[in-house]
Amino acid sequence: MKVAVGQIDCRGQSKPSIGTKIRNPQSAMEMDLYRLTIHEAHDLLTRGEVTSVELTSAVFDRIGQVEDRTGAYIMLVKDRAMAEAEAADEVIRQGTGGPLTGVPLAIKDILCTEGIRTTCGSKILENFIPPYSSTVVNKLKKAYAVIVGKTNMDEFAMGSSTEHSAFMVTRNPWDLTRIPGGSSGGSAASVAADECIGAIGTDTGGSIRQPASHCGVVGLKPTYGRVSRFGLVAFASSLDQIGPITKDVTDCAILMNEICGYDPNDSTSVPREVPDYTGALQAGLKGLVVGIPREYFAGGLDEDVAQAVNAAIKVIEELGATSKSVSLPHTEYAVAVYYLIAPAEASSNLARYDGVRYGFRDKEAEELIQMYRDTRSKGFGSEVQRRIIIGTYALSAGYYDAYYGKASRVRTLIMQDFNQAFETCDVLVAPVAPTPAFRLGEKLDDPLAMYLSDIFTLPASLAGIAGISVPCGFSKDGLPIGLQILSKHFDEEKLIRVAYNFEQATDFHTKRAKL
Ligand code: GLN
Repeated sequence: MKVAVGQIDCRGQSKPSIGTKIRNPQSAMEMDLYRLTIHEAHDLLTRGEVTSVELTSAVFDRIGQVEDRTGAYIMLVKDRAMAEAEAADEVIRQGTGGPLTGVPLAIKDILCTEGIRTTCGSKILENFIPPYSSTVVNKLKKAYAVIVGKTNMDEFAMGSSTEHSAFMVTRNPWDLTRIPGGSSGGSAASVAADECIGAIGTDTGGSIRQPASHCGVVGLKPTYGRVSRFGLVAFASSLDQIGPITKDVTDCAILMNEICGYDPNDSTSVPREVPDYTGALQAGLKGLVVGIPREYFAGGLDEDVAQAVNAAIKVIEELGATSKSVSLPHTEYAVAVYYLIAPAEASSNLARYDGVRYGFRDKEAEELIQMYRDTRSKGFGSEVQRRIIIGTYALSAGYYDAYYGKASRVRTLIMQDFNQAFETCDVLVAPVAPTPAFRLGEKLDDPLAMYLSDIFTLPASLAGIAGISVPCGFSKDGLPIGLQILSKHFDEEKLIRVAYNFEQATDFHTKRAKL
């Protein structure tokens, strides 16, 4: 695909440069810099043991080594990144840096980045260069983070495998024959393959938690309203949220501190104070009540997943929490409800891609209606077209009440299930996905099978509550498995607290994919 001036294609290889390793083995173990977490990188940067330029070069060297296998990035912006790293080094020298200063991060290609192409994994936006950056990207820039590139994703975030990207396949770093999950598959794969230090994803029905689970990294979907979506290309507006994908829970807390908060540019963001999420890393689990929703352990759950999640619950109990069985009786309707509401909202949001205002236009059409039709037929992939058709139908006169209206009412019942559970539980724990990462192509021709794999992530999205995926084991085939922890609205601290204690008691987060 074409690249704009000042940007390089992701296939740009580079030779390993000096500074790939930490210089001072006395104070830090000799290790490859690209493997660092955000907090480790921050410590070394502030102690002057490494510069952001060195760290950023090491990350690009790593990308040069593995990207042709993982396919995590749609676009890399090396020149910009190196300039940002230099600026960050200056800030660090002056002693005015923060926890993200000089840290190389990857951004899902659905967040607008001023002057850098933002494609949403779609042909229709292939050459779209936004005139402004999303609030989250601006916050990261203000913190002097270094933006490495834009990660691959399912077109307009519709999918669970990243196979619906119009541009490329992303492979799971743990097994290159398998999907990384989706739709933030590029972000999760880039973190798991150490092609960045941390990443940003989005979650409408599981797109942060599920790829994080499949790639053995941490992913948090914040409460609806916690993070500004200004400059996030809309998929389903009542569901979309932005959140971190990281190598450990501490990094997740650090990124949350930076990206959360009210924004007058997003009317759905909530004016509520942002706590210091790293504070949640101090507390233990004594006295906490953990609910185990029965419906998430029913038939169809893979044996290895069930085993890993059950073992994780034992660890959490040993750490001092009490667990109890709870019921979320409307769980079985979540797939049907979500796959009406999300396509309905998508059909309305995607109406703007008409070939007139911006994005791709089919120039061969001779009259206006044909131009609309041809632009949208050629510009959108088949999954997006399927959703637009379903959504338009569900919203059409005469059917609105039967489909969208009914789905909205059942959505309320799903929310009430959670409210009731949180009356007696601090958090809920469950699997993220019914199976570990499936094979590339396995569900591509069977949309229903693909949709059904979202069963455990959709309910929390419909309820607008927060959820995290933290590594909790491996399948017999060596594929990562994630533990999902859910909290009520705006209780992310509790998620981080439980996830952190679990992480510290286990070593799954220290394992890396062999590439
Ligand atoms: N897999 C779900 C879908 O296809 C969720 C995607 C997402 O969270 N963006 O819609």
